[in-house]
Amino acid sequence: MKHSHVRALRCAKIHRNMNCDPRHALLFDPVRIGPVVAKNRFFQVPHCNGMGYARPRSHAAMRGIKAEGGWAVISTEEVEIHHSSDISPFIEGRLWDDSDVPCLQLMTEAVHVHGALAAIELAHGGMNAGNLYSREIPLAPSDVCTPANYLPAQARAMSRSDIRALRRWHRQAALRARRAGFDVIYVYAAHGLALPMHFLQRRFNQRTDEYGGSLANRARLLRELIEDTREAVGDCCAVAVRLAVDELMGDEGIRANGEGRELIELLADLPDLWDVNVSDWSNDSRSSRFAPEGYQEDFVRFVKSVTRKPVVGVGRFTSPDAMVRQIRSGILDFIGAARPSIADPFLPRKIESGESDDIRECIGCNICVSGDYTMTPIRCTQNPTMGEEWRRGWHPERLPARISDDSFLVVGAGPAGLECARVLGRRGHRVHLVEARSELGGRVTRESRLPGLAAWARVRDYRLNQLRKMPEVTLILESEVRPEHVLEFGAHRVVLATGASWRRDGIGRAHRSPIPGLEGSGVFTPDDLMQGRMPSGPVVVFDDDHYYLGSVLAEMLRGAGLEVTLVTPADRPSAWTVNTLEQPFIHRRLLEIGVGLLPHHDLVAYDGREVKLACTYTAGLSRLPAASVVTVTSRIPNDSLALALESSPAALEQAGIVQVSSIGDCRAPSTIAAAVYAGHRHAREFDRPESEDTVPFRRERLSLVEDP
Ligand code: ADP
Ligand code: SF4
Repeated sequence: MKHSHVRALRCAKIHRNMNCDPRHALLFDPVRIGPVVAKNRFFQVPHCNGMGYARPRSHAAMRGIKAEGGWAVISTEEVEIHHSSDISPFIEGRLWDDSDVPCLQLMTEAVHVHGALAAIELAHGGMNAGNLYSREIPLAPSDVCTPANYLPAQARAMSRSDIRALRRWHRQAALRARRAGFDVIYVYAAHGLALPMHFLQRRFNQRTDEYGGSLANRARLLRELIEDTREAVGDCCAVAVRLAVDELMGDEGIRANGEGRELIELLADLPDLWDVNVSDWSNDSRSSRFAPEGYQEDFVRFVKSVTRKPVVGVGRFTSPDAMVRQIRSGILDFIGAARPSIADPFLPRKIESGESDDIRECIGCNICVSGDYTMTPIRCTQNPTMGEEWRRGWHPERLPARISDDSFLVVGAGPAGLECARVLGRRGHRVHLVEARSELGGRVTRESRLPGLAAWARVRDYRLNQLRKMPEVTLILESEVRPEHVLEFGAHRVVLATGASWRRDGIGRAHRSPIPGLEGSGVFTPDDLMQGRMPSGPVVVFDDDHYYLGSVLAEMLRGAGLEVTLVTPADRPSAWTVNTLEQPFIHRRLLEIGVGLLPHHDLVAYDGREVKLACTYTAGLSRLPAASVVTVTSRIPNDSLALALESSPAALEQAGIVQVSSIGDCRAPSTIAAAVYAGHRHAREFDRPESEDTVPFRRERLSLVEDP
């Protein structure tokens, strides 16, 4: 099956859509990768997703939909090649033995149905594999510590026979991958997460044998793995290398204008494809707050000048013009994408059919990464169907047919209301979307004006663009909806998406009752600041929310020249953003711009001049001058309209209203991703009510068949 598939691809007549903008046509050129041919230049590079070995059907369905959306190559996440590379509790792919083949085969089959190539990133995590489940001793080039989040333990230096064993495991994994149907087999040496990279890194490789010392020696393992893979499967599978060409840590690490370049010169044409990026993962997947589209260009532009093999690179590309420039200026052959393919699995198809306007552009928030960090299926702010392809049967572009003529009144045009109206409109329902303010977008519009968050406006822009094309949907601005308006309106169904307001009284995680003194003057909420009310300094930002907003507001106030201290009961500012790879960047920026940081402290009182603080460990008290306090603690749902309507069932019935539902932040404040999801889910499922007593999605269950 494998061979016939490759032949079929080789002979495939490449279909060109006549609507494609001629300026973008070169994105649809087929490109040869060793023995296989990619039908175009869109390459979904490996990315984690919290499904992996534990949820193989979900994983296969997610990848299959991207293949349907036009990506020519679809990769797995990192796939552990051996039980000594066990990165539990994280959920990645597994190919420890033959019994893992069928799960991965689900993916290759789902991908091949749409004429895409399936790629697998074979990985041995070395010292980054804590082996918490397998309880093997982690492996490394030399004696080094493992990351402390696994165990405060050490990896052992590999002997020559360990290296021989590793090569054997890698070769066996390559053979199994071929059996699973993969067309492209990766050797993984990036992100600081794989043994071949640890051998390259001088700071981890102090060997004195032929695997240590000179760059050629440190690259020996990588070279051998490439050669082994080619020898094992290179007759019909392409061999790709994923390499970090710069670690962004100066002379301590690999640099693009140093060993990164020398490495590619050394191995120039050995692999069939170079997939190049910067390390570590937080640098490779920088959020939009910390890097613009195409930000890796300066690091990877040299690669094509030292190899004849095709090169793929990433940069959160969503603009076809920017993609074309990457190709035309000889920087890349393939447009690599993880996040843009998550936000819009149909991105290539939309460009090909001249519908670039309809691309759901990634906003660079990294909520997708949080799935991996929390070991749960991937989710996405822009694409609410991500992660729901198999378990709920959701498709990003197809919706259930309309089964009634019900009309809708949607109140509030934040992310929840906009998405709900979009999906209802697409299903053919008549919708009035009514917004109290003079602008649409709710919190995303307001937050996108804050430092570093401009890309978040894409949540609004994509939806508005779609809504404006729908005759079924009417947008009404500057109209605050009150209960009597709802009753008079004449819609069959009412959806309340009225959002939430930040609290002033300090109630949040640390406090369940108001903080004394916050009822006086000098106290500001994030809403006040976003509406242009500016505090005077010195100002204390009390962050008991732990996501991005406290640090963003501190940055804004500091930018306005105020003396700012960020106080938080957590052990570091914006503590939750470890899950979006942003915390170290936020921390550094706050330090660099001179925001005072006071972690593990609670705000216990304010008298208009000073805040009283308590250490969260010792309860020891201290004071800090504060002309103003900004409370970033929790939000109150804007549910007065819902409560009023709920209390008048007879009036609703008389008005012919069959359903009033609350969605998004007015039901329970959460992330923007959760608001979009709520809007989507309601519009998709309102007419398929399920009992609250039944699980509303399919689950992947453990087989009770015993291992032989
Ligand atoms: P979510 O994240 O749940 O979408 P947002 O706070 O972003 O919530 O958006 C809620 C929107 O609802 C805001 O733009 C707000 O102005 C609007 N809104 C709130 N109450 C009313 C109302 N009674 N009538 C019309 N619009 C409202
Ligand atoms: Fe992009 Fe955010 Fe979606 Fe990730 S979650 S793909 S960063 S929009």
